[in-house]
Amino acid sequence: MLEVRHLKKNYGELEVLKDISLTVDKGSVISVIGPSGSGKSTMLRCLNLLEQPDGGEIILDGENIMNPSTDRREVHKKVGMVFQRFNLFPVKTVLENIMMAPVCVNKVKKQEAREQGLELLTKVGLYDKADKYPNTLSGGQQQRVAIARALAMRPEVLLFDEPTSALDPELVGEVLGIMKDLAREGTTMVVVTHEMEFARDVSNYVIFMDQGYIVEEGTPDAIFRHPQKERTKEFLSRMIS
Ligand code: ADP
Ligand code: MG
Repeated sequence: MLEVRHLKKNYGELEVLKDISLTVDKGSVISVIGPSGSGKSTMLRCLNLLEQPDGGEIILDGENIMNPSTDRREVHKKVGMVFQRFNLFPVKTVLENIMMAPVCVNKVKKQEAREQGLELLTKVGLYDKADKYPNTLSGGQQQRVAIARALAMRPEVLLFDEPTSALDPELVGEVLGIMKDLAREGTTMVVVTHEMEFARDVSNYVIFMDQGYIVEEGTPDAIFRHPQKERTKEFLSRMIS
């Protein structure tokens, strides 16, 4: 579904992604772990062309989306993103936040978008918050709305960039719970996370990144129980106390 080959990204002199290759199969859940500054966010942002990569190929549905002729809006439709800091529109209600992209970008009729939005809110357990404004919700609730908003575009792949890192600890579980449900339903997901239990128990593939490279990758069992590389072992020993 999504294949990345020899992806490179620089910011000036700084080589942030040096040679990243990965394959995202339909229905798979890939966790990306690694220290701060290793290039995880940059990689996600390249995958949906929020950043323009400097080299390599990104094949989405058989097409190299790094071709200049690519319509970035089409890529944004197919590859959804959930950010650390929700990024909801504060002057729109919860339901309006979810309806906005389907109505404005996909030209879905308002009534249909509303019904779909309410269905998605039910799915994330927030049907009763439809007419509230985002800042009246807890961080965990806002992130669940952001997930519903991303799902409203029916993306082929959903990217998560540390979706629980900005949350108070007691709110992390409700967001991870929704993500587990999505995984169980077969949603294709790439999740940058510091939640090692999620990476171990929910994903079917784990990528450990450091300094712009994929240092080690494999099944959760291979990475968490039988890591081969010193850097992986050292990172995991810091993360799992
Ligand atoms: P991670 O998500 O793993 O913490 P990032 O992808 O955010 O890592 O950042 C990787 C490196 O790229 C860091 O050194 C960061 O300072 C740098 N970087 C990220 N975004 C930019 C940018 N827009 N301009 C310049 N440097 C950046
Ligand atoms: Mg990051």
